[in-house]
Amino acid sequence: MADKKVTLEIKNVSKSFAKVENDEVTHALNKIDLSLESGEFVSLVGPSGCGKSTILRLVAGLIMPTTGKLTVDGKEITQPSPERGMMFQKSTLFPWLTVEKNIAFSLKMQGTLRGNEDKVERLLKVIGLEAFRNDYPGQLSGGMAQRVALMRSLINEPDILLLDEPLGALDAFTRMNMQDEILKIWQAKGQLALMVTHDVDEAVYMGTRVIVMDANPGRVVADIKIDEEYPRDRSSAAFVEYRNQILNRLHFGGRG
Ligand code: ADP
Repeated sequence: MADKKVTLEIKNVSKSFAKVENDEVTHALNKIDLSLESGEFVSLVGPSGCGKSTILRLVAGLIMPTTGKLTVDGKEITQPSPERGMMFQKSTLFPWLTVEKNIAFSLKMQGTLRGNEDKVERLLKVIGLEAFRNDYPGQLSGGMAQRVALMRSLINEPDILLLDEPLGALDAFTRMNMQDEILKIWQAKGQLALMVTHDVDEAVYMGTRVIVMDANPGRVVADIKIDEEYPRDRSSAAFVEYRNQILNRLHFGGRG
């Protein structure tokens, strides 16, 4: 699975949800057309309720579109797959399993742990938590737990990495370190990464491409290529220009 090049196509996808309390329908997504491929780091930004998480859940295969189609290399997404790894904002580690066992969990479930112990070892080293392998999630700081959760979604070496506000719960310093760690992993593997964030700085710092969305109905209003080398300088003129361009599309711009 790793290092395989894939193309994800989101073709004319709409998703509606019926409201429980009345007969109304929420148009979470309206006619989304996107083509994404390995090597891209795509940031999704937009106001609450514009359908960012819905896109991730559709790609994960957790929900199906109302109309339209999602495909990976032409094959329709109809269910979850280890090839599409998802990490949620609230790290959902198993509190009764140690760090090491949390990371190894999905391999164990698939019966592929034997012969792959070195993978767990490598990931423990990458996140610098070898000394904490026997600790339980409740003994870790928020940043450490988040690193374990990230590794747990990476152990299957997914072709497509889905990140739903992965760093939202972290303090500013830990968050910046984690941004670099995620970028390092993505650069080494060259997967397609698709990340939802509320943070425009984070979107520009990490993305090769930033997709700006708006709500009611959820739709894409801008698709901006970030043409800057890594590591990026958050104070450079180009960075600030990208940030302003996106803030303007989100109607928060101070100018333009
Ligand atoms: P975002 O991630 O951009 O905040 P979401 O994708 O979570 O937006 O939601 C988009 C819209 O769809 C919102 O109006 C939300 O209330 C609605 N929605 C999302 N999931 C469901 C669901 N399972 N049932 C009903 N409505 C939903």
